[in-house]
Amino acid sequence: MIKRILTLLFFGFYSLTVCAQADTLLKVLSLKEYLLLPASGKLIDILALNTSIHADIRYATTNNFTGKQIYPYAKALLINRAAEAFLKASDSLNKLGYGIVVYDAYRPYRATVKFWELIHNEDYVANPSKGSRHNRGCAVDISLYKLSTGVYLPMPTEYDDFTLNAHAEATCLELSSMQNRTILQGVMTWAGFNIFPTEWWHFDFSGWPNWPVLDVSFTDLP
Ligand SMILES: [Zn+2]
Repeated sequence: MIKRILTLLFFGFYSLTVCAQADTLLKVLSLKEYLLLPASGKLIDILALNTSIHADIRYATTNNFTGKQIYPYAKALLINRAAEAFLKASDSLNKLGYGIVVYDAYRPYRATVKFWELIHNEDYVANPSKGSRHNRGCAVDISLYKLSTGVYLPMPTEYDDFTLNAHAEATCLELSSMQNRTILQGVMTWAGFNIFPTEWWHFDFSGWPNWPVLDVSFTDLP
């Protein structure tokens, strides 16, 4: 019995230590620290890059998987370096007759904490002890629309669908939706983004681990 209690105490202590280590390992930059970053790491408005980029920022509405409005208003930001690659992708897609729909981009760290409080499940939301790639201004959630009509292109699932059909390599789907997903993935990877295995809409700028997690609210940004 004593042995069992000691074992439980050991593992309890061990898991607490690991959590504490994870917490201390993650450096989250405040506004003051963010302002000291080089220009390449500063957040810029990607909606202003090109008039064809369309905003459909779901977390600025209640039309998202949490059912709650997370952002005070619609905003889509990436760090400069990632925004350059994003513009390259947008220009290329325009030439093919498509425009980008942006569902989400930079997400302040405090929003990731809020997601975690609402949905305590790492299958669906990032664990704040690790931070999200969105917190680094290096990830975008996007889809495509047809420039000539403004109509969204069919994709394998809706945004923030957590089924297997949302996986980046899911098969047995409508042919047109798979073709549209292939165009999106092909252009984004060519421009310098990585595909995310479980979400067709999510792309990470390839240098994301080099950039810090930011906790700068939309309203505090200069
Ligand atoms: Zn995402």
